[in-house]
Amino acid sequence: MTHTLKHLSTLLAQGQASSVELCQDYLARIQRLNPTLNAFITVDPARTLAEAAAADARRAAGNAGALTGVPIAHKDIFCAEGWLTTCGSRMLSNFVSPYDAHVIEQFKAAGMPCLGKTNMDEFAMGSSNETSFFGAVKNPWDVARVPGGSSGGSAACVAARLAPAATGTDTGGSIRQPAALCGITGLKPTYGVVSRYGMIAFASSLDQGGPMAQTAEDCALLLNVMAGFDTRDSTSLEREKEEYARALTQPSAQPLAGLRIGLPREFFGAGLSGDTAQAVAAAIAQYRALGATTVEVGLPNSNLSVAAYYVLAPAEASSNLSRFDGVRYGYRTPEYADLTDLYEKTRAEGFGAEVKRRIMIGAYVLSHGYYDAYYLQAQKLRRLIANDFAAAFQQCDVILGPTAPTTAFKLGEKADDPVQMYLSDIYTIAVNLAGLPGMSLPCGFDAGGLPIGMQLIGNYFSEARMLNVAHQYQLATDWHARAPQL
Ligand code: GLN
Repeated sequence: MTHTLKHLSTLLAQGQASSVELCQDYLARIQRLNPTLNAFITVDPARTLAEAAAADARRAAGNAGALTGVPIAHKDIFCAEGWLTTCGSRMLSNFVSPYDAHVIEQFKAAGMPCLGKTNMDEFAMGSSNETSFFGAVKNPWDVARVPGGSSGGSAACVAARLAPAATGTDTGGSIRQPAALCGITGLKPTYGVVSRYGMIAFASSLDQGGPMAQTAEDCALLLNVMAGFDTRDSTSLEREKEEYARALTQPSAQPLAGLRIGLPREFFGAGLSGDTAQAVAAAIAQYRALGATTVEVGLPNSNLSVAAYYVLAPAEASSNLSRFDGVRYGYRTPEYADLTDLYEKTRAEGFGAEVKRRIMIGAYVLSHGYYDAYYLQAQKLRRLIANDFAAAFQQCDVILGPTAPTTAFKLGEKADDPVQMYLSDIYTIAVNLAGLPGMSLPCGFDAGGLPIGMQLIGNYFSEARMLNVAHQYQLATDWHARAPQL
Protein backbone atom coordinates (compact mmCIF):
# COMPACT_ATOMS: atom_id res chain seq x y z
CA MET A 1 0.00 0.00 0.00
CA THR A 2 1.92 3.00 -1.21
CA HIS A 3 -1.17 5.10 -1.60
CA THR A 4 -1.00 8.83 -1.29
CA LEU A 5 -3.96 10.84 0.00
CA LYS A 6 -4.38 12.17 -3.50
CA HIS A 7 -4.70 8.62 -4.84
CA LEU A 8 -7.07 7.46 -2.08
CA SER A 9 -9.22 10.54 -2.60
CA THR A 10 -9.56 9.64 -6.30
CA LEU A 11 -10.42 6.00 -5.51
CA LEU A 12 -13.21 7.18 -3.21
CA ALA A 13 -14.49 9.79 -5.65
CA GLN A 14 -14.65 7.24 -8.49
CA GLY A 15 -16.39 4.68 -6.29
CA GLN A 16 -13.51 2.18 -6.62
CA ALA A 17 -13.26 1.80 -2.84
CA SER A 18 -15.32 2.75 0.17
CA SER A 19 -13.96 4.33 3.31
CA VAL A 20 -14.94 1.20 5.25
CA GLU A 21 -12.84 -0.93 2.87
CA LEU A 22 -9.85 1.39 3.10
CA CYS A 23 -10.04 1.44 6.90
CA GLN A 24 -10.36 -2.36 7.04
CA ASP A 25 -7.19 -2.70 4.96
CA TYR A 26 -5.23 -0.33 7.17
CA LEU A 27 -6.59 -1.87 10.38
CA ALA A 28 -5.54 -5.34 9.17
CA ARG A 29 -2.06 -4.06 8.46
CA ILE A 30 -1.91 -2.38 11.88
CA GLN A 31 -2.97 -5.63 13.52
CA ARG A 32 -0.20 -7.48 11.71
CA LEU A 33 2.64 -5.00 12.14
CA ASN A 34 1.95 -2.93 15.23
CA PRO A 35 3.04 -5.67 17.66
CA THR A 36 6.53 -5.27 16.13
CA LEU A 37 6.59 -1.52 15.54
CA ASN A 38 4.58 -0.26 18.57
CA ALA A 39 3.58 2.81 16.54
CA PHE A 40 0.08 2.99 18.03
CA ILE A 41 -0.87 3.33 21.68
CA THR A 42 -4.60 2.93 20.99
CA VAL A 43 -6.56 1.38 18.14
CA ASP A 44 -10.32 1.03 18.32
CA PRO A 45 -11.52 -0.68 15.12
CA ALA A 46 -15.23 -0.36 15.95
CA ARG A 47 -14.91 3.39 16.41
CA THR A 48 -12.82 3.77 13.24
CA LEU A 49 -15.26 1.74 11.15
CA ALA A 50 -18.24 3.70 12.48
CA GLU A 51 -16.52 6.93 11.39
CA ALA A 52 -15.76 5.32 8.01
CA ALA A 53 -19.40 4.26 7.53
CA ALA A 54 -20.50 7.82 8.33
CA ALA A 55 -18.04 9.12 5.73
CA ASP A 56 -19.41 6.71 3.13
CA ALA A 57 -22.95 7.84 3.92
CA ARG A 58 -21.87 11.44 3.53
CA ARG A 59 -20.35 10.68 0.14
CA ALA A 60 -23.50 8.83 -0.95
CA ALA A 61 -25.54 11.90 0.07
CA GLY A 62 -23.38 14.05 -2.18
CA ASN A 63 -21.68 16.24 0.41
CA ALA A 64 -18.19 14.80 0.53
CA GLY A 65 -15.03 16.93 0.47
CA ALA A 66 -11.78 15.86 -1.20
CA LEU A 67 -10.59 13.93 1.85
CA THR A 68 -13.92 12.59 3.15
CA GLY A 69 -13.40 8.91 3.95
CA VAL A 70 -9.59 9.01 3.79
CA PRO A 71 -8.26 7.73 7.13
CA ILE A 72 -5.61 9.39 9.28
CA ALA A 73 -3.77 8.59 12.53
CA HIS A 74 -3.40 11.17 15.29
CA LYS A 75 -0.50 11.73 17.66
CA ASP A 76 -1.61 10.89 21.17
CA ILE A 77 -0.98 14.50 22.23
CA PHE A 78 -4.26 15.59 20.59
CA CYS A 79 -7.34 15.29 22.81
CA ALA A 80 -9.99 13.30 20.93
CA GLU A 81 -13.41 12.80 22.45
CA GLY A 82 -13.98 9.26 23.64
CA TRP A 83 -10.39 8.20 22.87
CA LEU A 84 -7.78 7.37 25.45
CA THR A 85 -5.39 10.34 25.21
CA THR A 86 -2.17 9.58 27.09
CA CYS A 87 0.52 11.94 25.73
CA GLY A 88 2.84 8.94 26.13
CA SER A 89 2.70 9.25 29.92
CA ARG A 90 1.64 7.13 32.86
CA MET A 91 0.18 10.38 34.19
CA LEU A 92 -2.55 10.27 31.52
CA SER A 93 -2.64 6.50 31.05
CA ASN A 94 -6.31 6.41 32.16
CA PHE A 95 -7.44 9.70 30.58
CA VAL A 96 -10.32 9.42 28.12
CA SER A 97 -10.74 12.88 26.66
CA PRO A 98 -14.19 14.46 27.07
CA TYR A 99 -13.56 16.89 24.19
CA ASP A 100 -11.85 17.32 20.81
CA ALA A 101 -8.79 19.42 20.06
CA HIS A 102 -9.38 22.06 17.37
CA VAL A 103 -7.26 19.98 14.98
CA ILE A 104 -9.38 16.88 15.67
CA GLU A 105 -12.59 18.87 15.13
CA GLN A 106 -11.30 20.00 11.77
CA PHE A 107 -10.40 16.47 10.64
CA LYS A 108 -13.82 15.27 11.79
CA ALA A 109 -15.50 18.06 9.86
CA ALA A 110 -13.52 16.97 6.78
CA GLY A 111 -14.85 13.44 7.33
CA MET A 112 -11.48 11.74 7.87
CA PRO A 113 -11.81 8.63 10.08
CA CYS A 114 -9.26 8.21 12.87
CA LEU A 115 -7.22 4.98 12.59
CA GLY A 116 -5.82 5.30 16.10
CA LYS A 117 -3.62 7.32 18.45
CA THR A 118 0.09 7.16 17.81
CA ASN A 119 2.92 6.55 20.25
CA MET A 120 5.20 9.42 21.23
CA ASP A 121 7.87 10.48 23.68
CA GLU A 122 6.35 11.31 27.06
CA PHE A 123 4.83 14.80 26.85
CA ALA A 124 6.71 15.17 23.53
CA MET A 125 10.05 15.34 25.34
CA GLY A 126 12.57 13.35 23.36
CA SER A 127 14.10 12.62 19.97
CA SER A 128 13.86 8.83 19.88
CA ASN A 129 10.46 7.79 21.27
CA GLU A 130 12.25 5.93 24.04
CA THR A 131 10.74 8.10 26.78
CA SER A 132 7.20 6.81 26.10
CA PHE A 133 5.54 5.07 29.06
CA PHE A 134 4.17 2.65 26.44
CA GLY A 135 7.58 1.53 25.22
CA ALA A 136 9.80 2.58 22.35
CA VAL A 137 8.60 2.73 18.74
CA LYS A 138 10.74 0.77 16.26
CA ASN A 139 11.97 2.24 13.00
CA PRO A 140 10.28 0.32 10.17
CA TRP A 141 13.49 0.46 8.09
CA ASP A 142 15.42 -1.36 10.85
CA VAL A 143 13.58 -2.44 13.98
CA ALA A 144 16.79 -2.26 16.04
CA ARG A 145 16.76 1.52 15.52
CA VAL A 146 14.73 4.48 16.77
CA PRO A 147 12.17 6.23 14.56
CA GLY A 148 13.13 9.65 15.95
CA GLY A 149 10.86 11.67 18.19
CA SER A 150 8.77 12.88 19.63
CA SER A 151 6.25 12.15 16.81
CA GLY A 152 7.95 8.78 16.20
CA GLY A 153 4.73 6.75 16.21
CA SER A 154 3.23 9.02 13.56
CA ALA A 155 6.38 8.88 11.42
CA ALA A 156 6.74 5.10 11.75
CA CYS A 157 3.09 4.40 10.92
CA VAL A 158 3.22 6.51 7.75
CA ALA A 159 6.57 4.98 6.69
CA ALA A 160 5.26 1.44 7.32
CA ARG A 161 2.03 2.27 5.46
CA LEU A 162 -0.09 1.60 8.54
CA ALA A 163 -1.76 4.94 7.77
CA PRO A 164 -1.62 7.18 4.71
CA ALA A 165 -1.02 10.24 6.91
CA ALA A 166 -0.72 11.34 10.52
CA THR A 167 -0.65 14.43 12.66
CA GLY A 168 2.43 15.45 14.62
CA THR A 169 3.61 18.29 16.80
CA ASP A 170 6.94 20.08 16.71
CA THR A 171 8.42 22.03 19.63
CA GLY A 172 12.07 21.68 18.66
CA GLY A 173 11.99 19.26 15.73
CA SER A 174 9.45 16.58 16.62
CA ILE A 175 7.78 16.50 13.20
CA ARG A 176 10.85 17.06 11.04
CA GLN A 177 13.43 14.84 12.79
CA PRO A 178 11.26 11.66 12.90
CA ALA A 179 10.10 12.39 9.32
CA ALA A 180 13.78 12.39 8.31
CA LEU A 181 14.64 9.23 10.24
CA CYS A 182 11.65 7.33 8.80
CA GLY A 183 11.84 8.61 5.20
CA ILE A 184 8.59 10.58 5.03
CA THR A 185 7.56 14.22 4.51
CA GLY A 186 6.54 16.44 7.45
CA LEU A 187 5.82 20.11 7.91
CA LYS A 188 5.90 22.41 10.92
CA PRO A 189 3.85 25.50 10.10
CA THR A 190 4.52 29.11 11.09
CA TYR A 191 3.78 29.50 14.81
CA GLY A 192 0.10 30.40 15.27
CA VAL A 193 -1.21 28.90 12.02
CA VAL A 194 -2.53 25.72 13.69
CA SER A 195 -4.55 26.06 16.90
CA ARG A 196 -3.04 24.53 20.04
CA TYR A 197 -6.46 24.13 21.68
CA GLY A 198 -6.70 20.56 22.97
CA MET A 199 -3.08 19.81 22.04
CA ILE A 200 -1.48 18.90 25.35
CA ALA A 201 1.01 21.67 26.12
CA PHE A 202 4.76 21.14 26.40
CA ALA A 203 6.34 24.54 25.69
CA SER A 204 3.51 26.78 24.54
CA SER A 205 5.57 29.45 22.77
CA LEU A 206 7.21 26.77 20.59
CA ASP A 207 4.60 23.99 20.14
CA GLN A 208 2.98 23.75 16.74
CA GLY A 209 0.95 20.95 15.14
CA GLY A 210 1.50 19.88 11.55
CA PRO A 211 1.03 17.15 8.93
CA MET A 212 3.15 14.05 8.25
CA ALA A 213 2.59 12.13 5.00
CA GLN A 214 4.36 10.59 2.02
CA THR A 215 4.48 13.70 -0.13
CA ALA A 216 4.56 17.49 0.04
CA GLU A 217 1.35 17.56 -1.97
CA ASP A 218 -0.38 15.46 0.70
CA CYS A 219 0.99 17.75 3.41
CA ALA A 220 -0.61 20.69 1.59
CA LEU A 221 -4.00 18.93 1.56
CA LEU A 222 -3.69 18.15 5.27
CA LEU A 223 -2.63 21.66 6.19
CA ASN A 224 -5.74 22.94 4.42
CA VAL A 225 -7.72 20.99 7.03
CA MET A 226 -5.56 21.70 10.11
CA ALA A 227 -4.88 25.41 9.76
CA GLY A 228 -7.28 28.12 10.78
CA PHE A 229 -8.12 30.73 13.36
CA ASP A 230 -9.49 29.53 16.70
CA THR A 231 -10.57 31.90 19.46
CA ARG A 232 -9.78 29.28 22.11
CA ASP A 233 -6.02 29.59 21.51
CA SER A 234 -4.83 33.10 22.32
CA THR A 235 -1.82 32.69 20.00
CA SER A 236 -3.90 31.48 17.05
CA LEU A 237 -3.53 33.96 14.21
CA GLU A 238 -6.58 35.61 12.71
CA ARG A 239 -5.77 35.37 9.02
CA GLU A 240 -7.74 34.59 5.94
CA LYS A 241 -8.06 30.88 5.15
CA GLU A 242 -5.32 29.80 2.72
CA GLU A 243 -5.33 27.12 0.03
CA TYR A 244 -1.94 25.52 0.67
CA ALA A 245 -1.89 23.57 -2.60
CA ARG A 246 -2.35 26.74 -4.66
CA ALA A 247 1.34 27.19 -5.48
CA LEU A 248 1.98 23.58 -6.56
CA THR A 249 2.98 23.66 -10.21
CA GLN A 250 3.24 21.08 -12.98
CA PRO A 251 6.59 19.60 -13.99
CA SER A 252 8.44 21.70 -16.57
CA ALA A 253 11.97 22.31 -17.78
CA GLN A 254 13.02 24.87 -15.16
CA PRO A 255 10.10 24.95 -12.71
CA LEU A 256 12.11 26.72 -10.00
CA ALA A 257 13.78 29.36 -12.18
CA GLY A 258 14.32 32.48 -10.11
CA LEU A 259 14.23 30.67 -6.75
CA ARG A 260 17.12 31.62 -4.46
CA ILE A 261 18.10 28.86 -2.03
CA GLY A 262 20.15 29.87 1.02
CA LEU A 263 22.70 27.39 2.34
CA PRO A 264 23.66 28.21 5.94
CA ARG A 265 27.36 27.51 6.38
CA GLU A 266 26.74 26.56 10.03
CA PHE A 267 24.64 23.58 8.91
CA PHE A 268 27.39 21.92 6.90
CA GLY A 269 30.21 21.82 9.43
CA ALA A 270 31.52 19.36 12.01
CA GLY A 271 28.99 16.91 13.41
CA LEU A 272 27.24 16.23 10.13
CA SER A 273 27.62 12.63 8.97
CA GLY A 274 29.27 12.02 5.59
CA ASP A 275 26.32 10.18 4.06
CA THR A 276 23.90 12.95 5.03
CA ALA A 277 26.24 15.66 3.72
CA GLN A 278 26.51 13.80 0.41
CA ALA A 279 22.77 13.28 0.02
CA VAL A 280 22.06 16.94 0.76
CA ALA A 281 24.76 17.99 -1.73
CA ALA A 282 23.09 15.84 -4.38
CA ALA A 283 19.72 17.45 -3.57
CA ILE A 284 21.28 20.90 -4.00
CA ALA A 285 22.57 19.83 -7.43
CA GLN A 286 19.07 18.61 -8.29
CA TYR A 287 17.64 21.99 -7.31
CA ARG A 288 20.11 23.76 -9.56
CA ALA A 289 18.97 21.49 -12.39
CA LEU A 290 15.41 22.60 -11.63
CA GLY A 291 16.46 26.20 -12.16
CA ALA A 292 17.17 27.44 -8.63
CA THR A 293 20.29 29.37 -7.69
CA THR A 294 22.10 28.97 -4.38
CA VAL A 295 23.72 31.47 -2.07
CA GLU A 296 25.71 30.90 1.12
CA VAL A 297 24.06 32.52 4.13
CA GLY A 298 25.07 32.82 7.77
CA LEU A 299 23.11 31.94 10.90
CA PRO A 300 25.87 32.90 13.33
CA ASN A 301 23.81 32.43 16.50
CA SER A 302 22.39 29.04 15.54
CA ASN A 303 25.08 27.26 17.54
CA LEU A 304 23.39 28.70 20.65
CA SER A 305 19.94 27.44 19.79
CA VAL A 306 20.12 24.13 21.65
CA ALA A 307 21.36 25.90 24.80
CA ALA A 308 18.63 28.56 24.62
CA TYR A 309 15.98 25.95 23.92
CA TYR A 310 16.95 23.81 26.92
CA VAL A 311 16.35 26.80 29.18
CA LEU A 312 13.14 28.09 27.57
CA ALA A 313 11.36 24.80 26.81
CA PRO A 314 11.86 23.34 30.32
CA ALA A 315 10.82 26.68 31.87
CA GLU A 316 7.51 26.57 30.01
CA ALA A 317 7.13 22.83 30.62
CA SER A 318 7.60 23.20 34.38
CA SER A 319 4.70 25.61 34.42
CA ASN A 320 2.47 23.66 31.98
CA LEU A 321 2.98 20.35 33.76
CA SER A 322 2.05 21.71 37.19
CA ARG A 323 -1.58 20.93 36.32
CA PHE A 324 -0.96 17.19 36.67
CA ASP A 325 -1.56 16.92 40.39
CA GLY A 326 -3.58 13.71 40.76
CA VAL A 327 -6.65 15.62 41.86
CA ARG A 328 -8.72 16.42 38.81
CA TYR A 329 -7.89 13.79 36.20
CA GLY A 330 -5.21 11.32 35.22
CA TYR A 331 -3.11 9.09 37.41
CA ARG A 332 -3.41 9.26 41.22
CA THR A 333 -1.16 7.39 43.62
CA PRO A 334 -3.14 4.66 45.39
CA GLU A 335 -1.97 5.47 48.93
CA TYR A 336 -1.16 8.80 50.54
CA ALA A 337 -1.12 10.41 53.98
CA ASP A 338 -2.22 13.98 53.18
CA LEU A 339 -2.53 16.41 50.27
CA THR A 340 1.20 17.14 49.98
CA ASP A 341 1.92 13.43 50.03
CA LEU A 342 -0.70 12.92 47.30
CA TYR A 343 0.96 15.52 45.06
CA GLU A 344 4.45 14.22 45.67
CA LYS A 345 3.72 10.54 45.17
CA THR A 346 1.44 11.12 42.16
CA ARG A 347 4.06 13.20 40.36
CA ALA A 348 6.95 10.94 41.39
CA GLU A 349 5.11 7.86 40.08
CA GLY A 350 3.26 9.45 37.16
CA PHE A 351 6.17 11.16 35.35
CA GLY A 352 9.19 9.46 33.78
CA ALA A 353 12.84 10.47 34.21
CA GLU A 354 13.12 12.84 31.23
CA VAL A 355 9.98 14.74 32.20
CA LYS A 356 11.22 15.12 35.78
CA ARG A 357 14.59 16.34 34.49
CA ARG A 358 12.82 19.05 32.45
CA ILE A 359 10.56 20.10 35.35
CA MET A 360 13.57 20.48 37.64
CA ILE A 361 15.59 22.45 35.09
CA GLY A 362 12.58 24.64 34.36
CA ALA A 363 11.82 25.38 38.01
CA TYR A 364 15.50 26.16 38.56
CA VAL A 365 15.94 28.62 35.68
CA LEU A 366 12.77 30.46 36.67
CA SER A 367 13.67 30.72 40.33
CA HIS A 368 14.62 33.95 42.05
CA GLY A 369 18.25 34.83 41.43
CA TYR A 370 18.59 32.58 38.39
CA TYR A 371 15.86 34.08 36.24
CA ASP A 372 18.11 36.90 34.99
CA ALA A 373 21.11 34.65 34.54
CA TYR A 374 19.37 31.94 32.50
CA TYR A 375 15.81 32.61 31.42
CA LEU A 376 16.28 36.26 30.44
CA GLN A 377 19.56 35.48 28.64
CA ALA A 378 17.89 32.69 26.70
CA GLN A 379 15.09 35.06 25.63
CA LYS A 380 17.74 37.46 24.31
CA LEU A 381 19.38 34.64 22.36
CA ARG A 382 16.00 33.78 20.93
CA ARG A 383 15.74 37.28 19.49
CA LEU A 384 19.27 37.11 18.03
CA ILE A 385 18.47 33.76 16.39
CA ALA A 386 15.28 35.18 14.85
CA ASN A 387 17.28 38.20 13.61
CA ASP A 388 19.76 35.86 11.89
CA PHE A 389 16.94 34.33 9.86
CA ALA A 390 15.52 37.76 9.01
CA ALA A 391 18.93 38.76 7.63
CA ALA A 392 19.29 35.49 5.71
CA PHE A 393 15.87 35.93 4.08
CA GLN A 394 17.11 39.23 2.64
CA GLN A 395 19.34 37.09 0.42
CA CYS A 396 17.22 34.04 -0.31
CA ASP A 397 13.65 32.73 -0.57
CA VAL A 398 14.11 29.43 1.21
CA ILE A 399 16.86 27.88 3.32
CA LEU A 400 18.05 24.31 2.70
CA GLY A 401 20.14 21.99 4.84
CA PRO A 402 20.12 18.65 6.62
CA THR A 403 17.24 17.85 8.99
CA ALA A 404 19.28 15.75 11.42
CA PRO A 405 23.02 15.19 11.83
CA THR A 406 22.76 11.41 11.40
CA THR A 407 20.34 8.76 10.21
CA ALA A 408 18.38 6.62 12.70
CA PHE A 409 20.53 5.53 15.64
CA LYS A 410 20.25 2.28 17.58
CA LEU A 411 17.67 1.85 20.33
CA GLY A 412 19.44 2.57 23.61
CA GLU A 413 22.42 4.25 21.91
CA LYS A 414 21.74 7.72 23.31
CA ALA A 415 19.18 6.90 26.00
CA ASP A 416 21.62 7.46 28.87
CA ASP A 417 23.22 10.58 27.43
CA PRO A 418 20.72 13.45 27.37
CA VAL A 419 23.13 15.93 25.78
CA GLN A 420 23.84 13.64 22.80
CA MET A 421 20.09 13.13 22.48
CA TYR A 422 19.47 16.90 22.59
CA LEU A 423 21.97 17.41 19.75
CA SER A 424 19.72 15.38 17.39
CA ASP A 425 17.74 18.62 16.99
CA ILE A 426 20.68 20.90 16.30
CA TYR A 427 19.35 21.91 12.86
CA THR A 428 15.66 22.08 13.72
CA ILE A 429 15.40 23.93 17.04
CA ALA A 430 16.31 27.42 15.77
CA VAL A 431 13.24 27.29 13.50
CA ASN A 432 10.91 26.90 16.49
CA LEU A 433 12.70 29.64 18.42
CA ALA A 434 12.09 31.98 15.49
CA GLY A 435 8.51 30.73 14.88
CA LEU A 436 9.24 29.97 11.22
CA PRO A 437 7.80 27.19 9.02
CA GLY A 438 10.06 24.25 8.22
CA MET A 439 9.75 20.87 6.62
CA SER A 440 11.66 17.67 6.10
CA LEU A 441 11.57 15.52 2.98
CA PRO A 442 13.40 12.35 1.94
CA CYS A 443 16.58 12.91 -0.12
CA GLY A 444 18.40 9.58 -0.13
CA PHE A 445 19.67 6.63 1.89
CA ASP A 446 22.87 5.98 3.79
CA ALA A 447 25.22 3.05 3.21
CA GLY A 448 23.13 0.96 5.59
CA GLY A 449 19.88 1.60 3.71
CA LEU A 450 18.46 4.10 6.22
CA PRO A 451 16.56 7.15 4.95
CA ILE A 452 18.08 10.65 4.96
CA GLY A 453 16.01 13.82 5.22
CA MET A 454 16.69 17.36 4.06
CA GLN A 455 15.16 20.39 5.66
CA LEU A 456 13.58 23.42 4.01
CA ILE A 457 13.00 26.54 6.10
CA GLY A 458 10.78 29.32 4.82
CA ASN A 459 9.98 32.85 5.88
CA TYR A 460 6.81 33.46 7.90
CA PHE A 461 3.64 32.30 6.10
CA SER A 462 5.55 30.98 3.09
CA GLU A 463 4.20 27.42 3.50
CA ALA A 464 2.49 27.32 0.09
CA ARG A 465 5.65 28.32 -1.74
CA MET A 466 7.86 26.02 0.36
CA LEU A 467 5.51 23.13 -0.37
CA ASN A 468 6.02 23.68 -4.10
CA VAL A 469 9.80 23.76 -3.63
CA ALA A 470 9.45 20.31 -2.03
CA HIS A 471 6.85 19.16 -4.57
CA GLN A 472 9.08 19.95 -7.56
CA TYR A 473 11.90 17.93 -5.98
CA GLN A 474 9.49 15.03 -5.45
CA LEU A 475 8.35 15.19 -9.08
CA ALA A 476 11.99 14.83 -10.12
CA THR A 477 13.03 12.12 -7.60
CA ASP A 478 11.45 9.04 -6.05
CA TRP A 479 13.01 8.87 -2.55
CA HIS A 480 9.63 9.72 -0.99
CA ALA A 481 7.95 6.80 -2.79
CA ARG A 482 10.23 4.12 -1.33
CA ALA A 483 8.87 2.03 1.49
CA PRO A 484 10.45 -0.50 3.83
CA GLN A 485 9.79 -4.20 3.11
CA LEU A 486 7.47 -5.40 5.87
N1 GLN B 1 13.66 16.65 20.98
C1 GLN B 1 13.25 17.93 21.49
C2 GLN B 1 12.94 17.81 22.96
O1 GLN B 1 13.16 16.79 23.49
C3 GLN B 1 12.08 18.46 20.72
C4 GLN B 1 10.83 17.75 21.03
C5 GLN B 1 9.65 18.32 20.31
O2 GLN B 1 9.77 18.98 19.29
N2 GLN B 1 8.49 18.10 20.90
O3 GLN B 1 12.48 18.71 23.58
